[in-house]
Amino acid sequence: MEDHSIFANWNNKNKTIMDKNQDNKNITRLLDNEPVGMTVQVVRVMGDGAFRQRLLEMGFVRGAKVTVLKNAPLQDPVEYMIMGSHISLRHSEAAQVEVTDKDAEFCDMEDAFNGIVETTVAGVDPMADNVLRVALIGNPNCGKTSLFNNVTGAKEKVGNYGGVTVDSKEGWFRIGGRKVQLVDLPGTYSLTEYSPEEMYVRTYIRDNHPDAILNIVDAGNLERNLYLTTQIMDMNIPMVVALNMWDELEKSGDHLDIEMMSRLLGARMVPMTAHNGQGVKEVLQAVMDAIDESEHQTLHHNVNYGTLIEDCLNELGEKCPDLDRYTVLKIIENDRHAIDLINGQDNADDVKKLAEDMRQRIERDYNDDIVSIITDLKYGFVRGALAEALTPNPDRATGETKPGYSMDRLLTNRWLALPILLVLMWLMFEATFTLGAYPQEWIEKGIGWIGEWIGSTMPEGILKDLIVDGIIGGVGGVLVFLPQILILFFFISLLEDSGYMARAAFIVDRVMHRVGLHGKSFIPYLIGFGCGVPAIMATRTLENRRDRLVTILTIPFMSCSARLPAYLLLVAAFFTAKQGLILMSIYLVGILVAAITAIIMSKTFLKHDKTQFVMELPPYRKPTARNATIHMWSKGKQYLQKMATIILAASIIVWALGYFPRHEGQTPQEQIENSYMGRMGKAIEPLVEPLGFNWQMGVSVLTGAAAKEIVVSTMGVLYTGEADADEESASLKEKLQTATKPDGSHVFDPIVAYSFMLFILLYFPCIAALAAIKREAGWKWVAFEVVYTTGVAWLVSFIFYQIATRL
Ligand code: GDP
Ligand code: MG
Repeated sequence: MEDHSIFANWNNKNKTIMDKNQDNKNITRLLDNEPVGMTVQVVRVMGDGAFRQRLLEMGFVRGAKVTVLKNAPLQDPVEYMIMGSHISLRHSEAAQVEVTDKDAEFCDMEDAFNGIVETTVAGVDPMADNVLRVALIGNPNCGKTSLFNNVTGAKEKVGNYGGVTVDSKEGWFRIGGRKVQLVDLPGTYSLTEYSPEEMYVRTYIRDNHPDAILNIVDAGNLERNLYLTTQIMDMNIPMVVALNMWDELEKSGDHLDIEMMSRLLGARMVPMTAHNGQGVKEVLQAVMDAIDESEHQTLHHNVNYGTLIEDCLNELGEKCPDLDRYTVLKIIENDRHAIDLINGQDNADDVKKLAEDMRQRIERDYNDDIVSIITDLKYGFVRGALAEALTPNPDRATGETKPGYSMDRLLTNRWLALPILLVLMWLMFEATFTLGAYPQEWIEKGIGWIGEWIGSTMPEGILKDLIVDGIIGGVGGVLVFLPQILILFFFISLLEDSGYMARAAFIVDRVMHRVGLHGKSFIPYLIGFGCGVPAIMATRTLENRRDRLVTILTIPFMSCSARLPAYLLLVAAFFTAKQGLILMSIYLVGILVAAITAIIMSKTFLKHDKTQFVMELPPYRKPTARNATIHMWSKGKQYLQKMATIILAASIIVWALGYFPRHEGQTPQEQIENSYMGRMGKAIEPLVEPLGFNWQMGVSVLTGAAAKEIVVSTMGVLYTGEADADEESASLKEKLQTATKPDGSHVFDPIVAYSFMLFILLYFPCIAALAAIKREAGWKWVAFEVVYTTGVAWLVSFIFYQIATRL
């Protein structure tokens, strides 16, 4: 009864405000029009669907205070502070948020605190499936991976789930003689199943029934972090909340009464500092206690949504006994995924009808839409509890920004931001490619020795050629990239950990937005100029699957370093003036084609959903070498394991096509000409003739599919009979300059050379890149990419050649 009165009270107040707003329509404004430094209160978020839901979940609920912090150097997006976290919104998005003066009278959300309700659930045997499984769930950047690495020693296994390119990591730890599996799930703000991460986490819980959930929260930002906790609570799985970043909370001078907070939320809470391991043991022990308790009948604590909604939940819950409270609530919210779950049920229509009635009743009663109502109530619950248990440091001014933020003035300064970004990127590349060159050389030498050693001990024959040229050559081609990949990912990990990566995205978002992408795509593209493989792997930092796909599919147009030898050879041989400009123009064509492709994709089959642009700017933190090293190794391992198989197989195939059929006494030149590869080159000659190419160039292009460096060495074999020709090889350059067709005219001229460079730039990404695409996006997109890039290459070279020869 009691909670009903509080509830009614809140409700009335709420209505008064609505009425007030309606009487006085011009007091609300759009967030987008607010000047920097202004603090206002949210009235509502307009629009509907995923974007609105995401904003609500990020804290844009009625009455929340938002401060406009700054514009990005290119004026869009804008950084806001809400609920103690920094969030970047584009102008167009901020225009969806209605705000009013900061001290306009609003209902006190704390009044919405109705406490908890209890549900009793039958006990389960945690060892029923022979493993104890604990799932780590939390917002991005709350310290999940730090804990995971600390607990498991990062002997992790990367898992992929149902075609979604989102990872989870599994590791093991021992406690009290028992072995427990720990799963590091992707960071997520909610479980609403709008983003691939949310979908992944939700599906994981549904399908794998973890024995307990370890919910990691950032203790310095409880209001926002505990929102997810309220969703997990409704799932009725034993849960422990780890209050991470406890060191930061203590430093800030805020005081949290953990005991009271645990009681109010009905959840076990344990303080922890994951990155130095403090409190980790206690957290794990609490998890084990929770699991042990769940063997018997257990009491679960849920958010009390007030009499009306609670009654609805009970009534609907009885009709769907197999569903947890979370899903029942989602059915009332008309959530597509939740409704899919009951569609098979006998009484599905009945349930849907009932849920529809309930929704209407609730919406009428609260005079708002269901999604806002539930989000408001959840935030009300969290705020109510925090109002009791959290005492902010009285000496701290409200609205003060997080430590480390002073550095931000410099890093996102209107004039300095871009130069700083470019210098940092340049440093990263210099380090990667110059430092990486040493181990790369050692690996090359090592592989050379092994090849020679095998060559000298094995009898001549196919087997020897297969091992030396096919296998060692193929594996070597993979291995030589390893040092650079490791170094690059070490730097990327530092950038991510420190919080700078999000700022880089903030700075360049406006440019990337032009082609329908998020600022976060910038770094993978940049890496793509070095090598497409790590670039494609780096798209993991993009949260949105669509963005990730568009970025992955356009990265191969960024001219990677493996194509450079071919350009250098051709430019040196056929252009005497403006060589630098010619070379640069090739790179620019690549960027242009990527941009056009991205625009077309975003307008057609990869239309963006709007949640993607709301980005949190995490606080600056000191990155740890440990995390960076672990990240580096796990990337390196992924690269070797997943790539080696595909690349090895493909290199053997390419080798075999150039090797067979064998005839005695042939020169290397004749051998490749008469091989299957040579025949294929001749067969495709009619196809490449309109581009100005002859069959030798066709063969080079075919062998270059394995790796683009091979284009030059194949030309070397075909024109000089030497396999070890390179871009500086004078004889190859001369041979190309003087090569003639049967009719006596020159094979190459500047136009043909340029057309050939365009083709090398754009066609078929190398096999290693395709292997990476396969891993991140699947075979379907590999097939698409092969057809698309080669088609574009043909078209561009064709248009160029046909026009240029007619001028
Ligand atoms: P995830 O995104 O949830 O996996 O979070 P990470 O484990 O990658 O951590 C994000 C950042 O927070 C990293 O820079 C960590 O070093 C830092 N971090 C993690 N735990 C703590 C902690 O307890 N205290 C402090 N001060 N920093 C932490
Ligand atoms: Mg992580």
